[in-house]
Amino acid sequence: MSIPAPEYVRAIAPYQAGKPISELAREYGLDAARIIKLASNENPLGMPESARAAILAELAEVSRYPDSNGFALKAAISRHHGVAADWITLGNGSNDLLELVAHALLHPGASAVYSQHSFAVYALATQATGARAIVVPARELGHDLDAMRASIAVDTRIVFVANPNNPTGTWLAREEIADFVASVPEDVVVVLDEAYDEYLEPSQRSDLIRRVREHPNLVVCRTFSKAYGLAGLRVGFAVAQAELTDLMNRVRQPFNVSSIAQAAAIAVLGDQAYLQRSYESNRAGLDRLQGAFARMGLDYVPSHGNFVLVRVGDAARVYEDLLHAGIIVRPVGNYGLPEWLRITVGLPEENDAFLRAFERAMGRA
Ligand SMILES: *Cc1c(COP(=O)(O)O)cnc(C)c1O
Repeated sequence: MSIPAPEYVRAIAPYQAGKPISELAREYGLDAARIIKLASNENPLGMPESARAAILAELAEVSRYPDSNGFALKAAISRHHGVAADWITLGNGSNDLLELVAHALLHPGASAVYSQHSFAVYALATQATGARAIVVPARELGHDLDAMRASIAVDTRIVFVANPNNPTGTWLAREEIADFVASVPEDVVVVLDEAYDEYLEPSQRSDLIRRVREHPNLVVCRTFSKAYGLAGLRVGFAVAQAELTDLMNRVRQPFNVSSIAQAAAIAVLGDQAYLQRSYESNRAGLDRLQGAFARMGLDYVPSHGNFVLVRVGDAARVYEDLLHAGIIVRPVGNYGLPEWLRITVGLPEENDAFLRAFERAMGRA
């Protein structure tokens, strides 16, 4: 330990990603083509065809830097969501946007509030700045907004809220979120992470992007990684009023979103048929998985995302058994949930294959 890094950097526990297919194939001598990955909430429908065409058309331009301001993509998002283009910030995934807000606002001596069992990146982004984390106990595995409001301290600069939440799949109605935002002190920024909004029933989907105009301290983050099927390209966006947008852009890397990613995101925003298929396939898969868990008498959290959290007991053993069967799911011990596994909804045949292996693994207890 001779390199003088800050203690708060040394204290960071790095992000644990879902196991890549190629790694499992290598380690267990399995055929990569037969491995099923239900570990990272990726879209099982695969890349939208509309994105493929846009990507191929953009390839000839890769010797040039992308548009650092993302004019065309911001224009498309602006039209789609009815928000001013200059209130939009593009990110290398929405992960990047969470980091931008943290870098812009946090520092040693400040604090950020987030919920127990909420998305791991809130802790990482906070710790990297040397700010203090205020982790609020969850209520029924979801956000306890009253407790979160009550735990805001004088040095608090950010409150992170995931809705729906990952890894638990819990969700709060938009009025509860809106009331919360309205009740938070104006010098505390609410980062509302809506990565799974497109998986909600249409009547449940958020309108908080439109309400940004009422709240200078609200930033809403969205991603193209989940229902839009572009996780590998890394693209997301945030909507906030001009002052907050300006602050985020001061710490943003130039060219943080690749030209290929920008082109693909524009294409898929115009491909509502893909989005609809993602939604329907996910609903059917959720019913299949949750129905099976209920029949097996297992505790699970009714999900509002594209994944289900299920209580299996000895999660490490069940995870290993599934790996041997060529199926990758997500252990969530690092989220304080050592008895649970998170299963991403797959295609019908993937869900069935998972359930066959899962029933065998659970029967061996
Ligand atoms: C997947 C996820 C993200 C998005 O990640 P990207 O960086 O956009 O791929 C953001 N927030 C939550 C809660 C997520 O689960």
